[in-house]
Amino acid sequence: MPTIDTRVTISEVPADSLASAACPACSHEWSAHDQISTRYCKATTAGSYSRGCVCPAAK
Ligand SMILES: [Zn+2]
Ligand SMILES: [Zn+2]
Repeated sequence: MPTIDTRVTISEVPADSLASAACPACSHEWSAHDQISTRYCKATTAGSYSRGCVCPAAK
């Protein structure tokens, strides 16, 4: 029976992970989103749409 070391598989998540993590909808970092694109991508993620993004970085 294989042993699973959870100390390795579960990494610590930094408190500011939301700001540095990539957006699940468009893969831009959250820090690259403005207020409009943040709302847009959260709606995209919630609705499982595939419609691109409106990030300033994408233009
Ligand atoms: Zn996004
Ligand atoms: Zn984007």
